[in-house]
Amino acid sequence: MKTFWLLALAASLFAQQADHPKEAGDDRTGYTDTPQLPGQKWKVHDAARPRPRKVTPGLPLLQEAPPADAIVLFDGKDLSKWVTVARGGQPEEPKWKVRDGYFEVAPRTGRLVTKEKFGDIQLHLEWMVPSGVEGAGQGRGNSGVEIMGRYEIQVLESFANQTYADGQAASIYGQYPPLVNASRPQGEWNVYDIFFEAPKFDGDKLLKPAYVTVVHNGVMVHHRQEILGQAVHRKVAKYTPHGAEESLSLQDHGQTVRYRNVWIRRLRPYDQP
Ligand code: MG
Repeated sequence: MKTFWLLALAASLFAQQADHPKEAGDDRTGYTDTPQLPGQKWKVHDAARPRPRKVTPGLPLLQEAPPADAIVLFDGKDLSKWVTVARGGQPEEPKWKVRDGYFEVAPRTGRLVTKEKFGDIQLHLEWMVPSGVEGAGQGRGNSGVEIMGRYEIQVLESFANQTYADGQAASIYGQYPPLVNASRPQGEWNVYDIFFEAPKFDGDKLLKPAYVTVVHNGVMVHHRQEILGQAVHRKVAKYTPHGAEESLSLQDHGQTVRYRNVWIRRLRPYDQP
């Protein structure tokens, strides 16, 4: 029996190498041939980077309703605040499917993008990888909250699924793992509360980077963490100048993930309208 598994393992490693001859590692173990992350001791998707310890979050309570000044992006009924944008395509009617109080990624139709644009925000959303979704590493319930369309807080089944630390659920993708792994199991709703300060540019020059605070299922997992730049696979993130406000998007990574109760608040100084 042992020999069988060893042979199966060898065969799968060989198959991966055949698929990715130049990459040292895979998305379950992490990589050894990626560039160094600036200001950190780790490489991008580092195989040696420790996985955050698990913290079991408290039991979910009733869904909290949005505060009065929130812009409700999904109230359980329709996707009227969103468009679908396929890679390189024009905005179209949303292709993602609304079901019983939630909506679901329609794999490979394109990301879901808000019509409205935002800068500094507080964002609440809930997500779930449904029971029965299979796959491993980055292939199990992969989506993502793309703030300003580019700074990704990862969505992934990370309760019983291993991947590189900076690519698991609630990571700032390719940059920072969450402080702890507060994931709920597949088939249960996860909650993200995200507090984001937009970067500032003067022409091509970065004046101020973006910062993000993330609470996952009531557990703080990033505390005003500086973002290194736009999310990218196997490379060091960098900034490309963009507007003071940009659309929020949800990633289509070709896999099934559900979302519900999505609302956002603009953060402004109290004496500004
Ligand atoms: Mg993702």
